[in-house]
Parts: sequence; C-alpha cells; structure tokens
Amino acid sequence: MITLRSPFFLSLVLTAGLAAPPARSAEVALQSADLIITHAHLVTMNERRDLIEDGAVIIRDARIIAVGSAALAAQFTAPKTIDARGDIVMPGMINTHTHASMTVFRGLGDDVPDRLRRLIFPLEKNLIDRELVYWGALHGFIEMVEGGVTTAVDMYYFEDEVARAAQQIGIRGVLGESILNFPTPDSPEPYGGLAYAKKFAAAYRNDPLITPALAPHAPYSLDVDHLRQVAQLSAEFDLPVLMHVAEMPDEVATLRKERNQTPVEYLDSLGLLNRRLVAAHCIFVTDSDIALLKARDVGIAHNMVANIKSAKGVSPALKMAEAGLRVGLGTDGPMSGNTLDIIGQLGYVAKLHKLDRKDRNVMPALKVVELATLGGARALHREKDLGSLEPGKLADLIILDHESTAFVPLFDVYSTLVYAAGPKDVKTTIIHGRVVMQDRKLLTIDPAAVRTRLRAIATRINAAVAAGLK
Ligand SMILES: [Zn+2]
Repeated sequence: MITLRSPFFLSLVLTAGLAAPPARSAEVALQSADLIITHAHLVTMNERRDLIEDGAVIIRDARIIAVGSAALAAQFTAPKTIDARGDIVMPGMINTHTHASMTVFRGLGDDVPDRLRRLIFPLEKNLIDRELVYWGALHGFIEMVEGGVTTAVDMYYFEDEVARAAQQIGIRGVLGESILNFPTPDSPEPYGGLAYAKKFAAAYRNDPLITPALAPHAPYSLDVDHLRQVAQLSAEFDLPVLMHVAEMPDEVATLRKERNQTPVEYLDSLGLLNRRLVAAHCIFVTDSDIALLKARDVGIAHNMVANIKSAKGVSPALKMAEAGLRVGLGTDGPMSGNTLDIIGQLGYVAKLHKLDRKDRNVMPALKVVELATLGGARALHREKDLGSLEPGKLADLIILDHESTAFVPLFDVYSTLVYAAGPKDVKTTIIHGRVVMQDRKLLTIDPAAVRTRLRAIATRINAAVAAGLK
C-alpha cells in the first residue's frame, strides 16, 4: 500500500511551536528587519524538520532572526517584503565541490578516456588566464544561483579572480587555490600555488562571503614534503583544505604498491586528515578508512553525477552518512558533471544508492534533502551558520515556484524536491540576506553580457584545440 503524508499529518506539524519573538501587544513597537518573507510553505530543516504551510521568515543584518507562522510578520517592519503566495521556501543548497570557471570548457571531449591528463591539463596549461577564470566563474556562479545554490566550494587557479566573481554575484564561497607538482597557469614554478594560496588567504581573511582555503589537487599530484607544508599552513592559519581523495583507481594502486597504504591512511600519516579537510569523491574507501575519516571528523563531498559520468564507481557515501560522517553533495566541475546546481543531483543520489543496495528504503527523500542542505553545512563544519531556516543562522535561502508543474500535486515536499523538481523551479535566491535573484531575474549582474564574453572565450578555445594542444 502507498502511504501518503496526509493533510492531517501536515496540520499536526504546523501547529508545533517554533522559535519566535514575544507576542505583539498594543504598546510594543514593531521590530525592525531588513527583509520579511511571508505566506511561504516553509521547509525549515530545523532539528524537528518542521514544515509550516503558511509561514514567515524574518531577516536582519544578514541573519535569520525569526521563523514561524505568517502571523509573525505583523510584528516586524522592513523596507522589503516578499509575499511568497504559497511558494516553497527552504535553506539554500550547498555545492561542496566544484570548479566553476571550467564552464568555459563544458562539453569538450566528454566521452574520451583518460581525459584529465590527455585533455584537461593541456587545455588548462595552454589557455587559462585571469580573464578566462573570472568570466568562467561568473558564468558558473550564475548557473548556481539560478539553480538554488547559495554556497559554492570551489578549487581552481587564479582563485582571487573566482573570489572577485563570487563577490560580484553575491554567492557565498569557500575558495581554494590549487597546488600541484607541476607549473600551473598562475604559477610558473611547481608548487607555486602554495605561495599564491598564502597571499590569497591573507587577502580574504575576515571576508563575510568568502572563506579562503588551500586546494592541494590530490594525493598523487603532490609530494610528501609539500603535502606536509599544506597541513602546516592549514593548521597555522586555520584554513580549510579542499582535495580530491580516493577518486582514481591509479591513486589507490600506486599508494598500495609504494607505501602499502590507502589514500586516507596516507593523508592521515601526513597530518592532513582533520576537521579542516573537505575530501571530494572518496569512491575507493575501505570500512577502516571510513572509521578513520569519522574519527578525524573530515567533511565529505559526494559527487554522484560526476562519478556516474566518469564511470569510476559509486562512492559509499550512504555508508558514510549512516556512520555519522559529515557528508554533503557536490557537482564537481562542469567538465565532470556538466551542471552546477544541486537540485538536479538529488534524484541520482537517491536512486543510485537504492540500486546499489537493491533496497528502495535506504535513501528516503528527506535524507537526500538533508545531504543537500545541512549535510553540506556539516561537511564544512559550518552547521551553526548554514543549512537550515532557524533564528541565528545566516540568511541563505531559496524560493521555489509552487505553481510549477513539478509541484502539483504536492503530497510530500521532500519527494517532489528530490524526484520531480529541477533548477528552473527556483524562483528567488537570497544569500547573506541579499536578494541575488528574484522571480528568475538576477539582480547583481547581467547574465547576457557574461554569455557574450563566454562565447568569445569559446572561440579562442576552439581555435587552440583545432591547432592541437600539447
Ligand atoms: Zn573536482
């Protein structure tokens, strides 16, 4: 028998009390706020996972100050009010692993083997400059904002240009400068990214939107000494470390042969396995690796769609989540997963883990929405600030169109979000209390101008590819 979440159940949920300011009385003046969102179908993702069918969210100084029924709005005054008219309002989604600037290369050589070494590294070596990184990042961030992503965890070159783009659009970023054992577009010397990253981190310390990070590319693309230096720098300045971990069969085989260790054990021996690390992929991890990742409190970026496309395997992310690890969702770069929104990942995450376990019960829709919001916040150790609609948290939230085809009928909002909704159902995106997109219109940038620049860059890329890359 199919069991649906009944209206009766919903009304029970709705009557539950929520944190709210004291009731208004005649002599109490209206409290000031910056933004009021009212008549919203709230998906709070708070501890009780409350749903409020006619709710309000009040925002002041970039934070949520109150969440409750629509009547709450009458206690506040603000220069801007959004009447959601029944639209779904939920926490913004967190993309825990991406390379936004690679939008410029999207669609190139998608189906060729050994693409990283044969195509991607030569493309980057020949073509990347500040301009390409900046415009590529803008284009990528536009796609994320349009798709309901409010925090992007990015690693690339010229990461200060990525930061500039993020600030311009108004998206929150944890941004890591890439460090590799060969010369890169922004560092003519091998490992030059380390010095670059140090400078970048100093420049963006204390930025409200940008958290600077270190991005050692992978265990196989740096040597022991430099990985240790990364660990030291991260500890000294409390910088997050973003890294591809246990992604490649080669990586696992080589470390087994040379050191008799798994990638996770190897990183642990170098002091990199700790709460500052966000490990992307983790496809080839053993049960004892999972226990070690948990003991060290490492964040995991699960990139299901990119992993399907590369045919590398299904990461045991479900097992990691069940073991209590901090698992969030990522898209990887647009050459890997090709899209940058998280909402489009949700159905794949649910269905592939179900298929993998041969059990339709293992990945309920609520759990998938948790991974996309709170899970991402936990992977970044930012759950105090991000991931749910609760007083005190940063005001990163999105509004989805309840009149969109996918949302009618609406029996179970989590199910609709995971199995039916898509990025185009996102109407409005608010980040750090600022309305970045409203009713599908970007307010901080002209996307058509960005597309014009992207096309010009693509012409340059085409010519370089035609001339032959080395
Ligand atoms: Zn990646």
